Amino acid sequence: MDMREALTFHDVLLVPKRSSIASRRGVDTTGRFSRRIKLKVPIVSANMDTVTESRMAVALARAGGLGIIHRFLTLEEEAAQVAKVKRSENIVIESPYTIGPDETVGRARGLMREHGVGGLLVVDVKGRLLGLVTERDVQFRDKSEESLRRVMTTKLVTAPPDVGLEKAREILRDHKVEKLPLIDKDGRLKGLITARDIKNRRLYPDASVDSKGRLLVGAAVGVVSGYLERAAAVLEAGADCLVVDVAHGHADHVIKAVENLRRKFPKAEIVAGNVATYEGARDLAAAGADGVKVGVGPGSICSTRIISGAGVPQLTAVMDCARITKENDVPIIADGGLRDSGDLAKAFAGGASSVMLGSLLAGAEESPGWTVVRGGARWKIYRGMASLGATLTRKNKERREDEALDPIEVSEVVPEGVESMAPYKGPVAEVLFQLIGGVRSGMSYSGAATLPEFWKKAEFTRITSASWAESRPHHLDK
Ligand code: IMP
Repeated sequence: MDMREALTFHDVLLVPKRSSIASRRGVDTTGRFSRRIKLKVPIVSANMDTVTESRMAVALARAGGLGIIHRFLTLEEEAAQVAKVKRSENIVIESPYTIGPDETVGRARGLMREHGVGGLLVVDVKGRLLGLVTERDVQFRDKSEESLRRVMTTKLVTAPPDVGLEKAREILRDHKVEKLPLIDKDGRLKGLITARDIKNRRLYPDASVDSKGRLLVGAAVGVVSGYLERAAAVLEAGADCLVVDVAHGHADHVIKAVENLRRKFPKAEIVAGNVATYEGARDLAAAGADGVKVGVGPGSICSTRIISGAGVPQLTAVMDCARITKENDVPIIADGGLRDSGDLAKAFAGGASSVMLGSLLAGAEESPGWTVVRGGARWKIYRGMASLGATLTRKNKERREDEALDPIEVSEVVPEGVESMAPYKGPVAEVLFQLIGGVRSGMSYSGAATLPEFWKKAEFTRITSASWAESRPHHLDK
């Protein structure tokens, strides 16, 4: 039997190299999650129920990263989470919320509340724009049965559907209006541009957006029953990427599932994993994956290596798998085990095109994990998706839908993850700023202005545990 040595992040350091980079701001960290998904801040949040739902995905995409909605939801719930992200910010809202002119003030109020918007466009049965009702038009109206015809604004500033962003901005500025409906030559409503979305665009210059200016979002799918339906539903809701997420991705049934997804959704971006060897990455890429997620057992909440004895130290796994980026232009995502920005820098130096984080983001304000207070400090619950708690929640949810099955017992589960907590860290944008700042610094120590340059120029030196002790703040209390 062959036995190879393998290393992880804390076994190495990046050797400082002569550098022509004068300022870290001159470093471009743009990376990729999949063949066609480019990210200015190539940091992706893990598809875990204590890390990523729509709120995290919106905040990350605004900051230049990407969120992957977890799949421990019903198909409808997961699709709704995706839709929420896609609707959150648009340059052109293609299907704005509308209402008929003979509806009432009460109905308009109800719809605005339900959809969380401050205005509705009034259209006739043929879809022709008649007016606009905003919160201001309906507030203080005592009679909720009053017809909208009496309260709506009919003098509207409009533009044709192909108006450019700059032109739209000028129109909004010159007319001092907040909403610019787009209408075709027959007066039919074709879209809406709002001042708020244009402002957001300026506020978030690094945002990860699609060709229509909507924030990017990915959605996880499994490989057993119903995964094709789930994939169809999340793609229909606007997901920019499917993430086939299985603990051992180098398995025949996973490869088959990726092939099936590729065949059924030829245009979709598909990322598959997890693997920890070149052969695993190669086989998933050959099955049609546009990106391969790497990591078997490095996760902070993971006990796979303890329970099963299987895994590969993460830096070696990333470096081996990254061969397929060179060979086939398929990006590698380093998933799990990253504790500090220095680990992110080492993962990128080793060939990763992006990184996936769980514990580093679980404590952010936007994560769905619930908050607890211990020892006077705030924490957020963070648990492995194969932990006892997560497995029981998921399996019992499935079983509740089938009355013939009894609830699952604790003794029936062999967990490969643990339940824990992450310190509360405030807004994720601040967390990201620190992490990517560290990556920029690492790149500049290697004299690399871009990720591909980093891959070429970086050199690792192997260190001992004494060197690691020297690397951390030390000797301060003597
Ligand atoms: P972290 O960033 O070190 O916390 O690792 C997060 C990664 O751990 C996720 O993206 C998954 O790939 C992996 N993971 C999530 N839940 C489990 C689990 O229960 N067992 C093993 N690995 C897990």
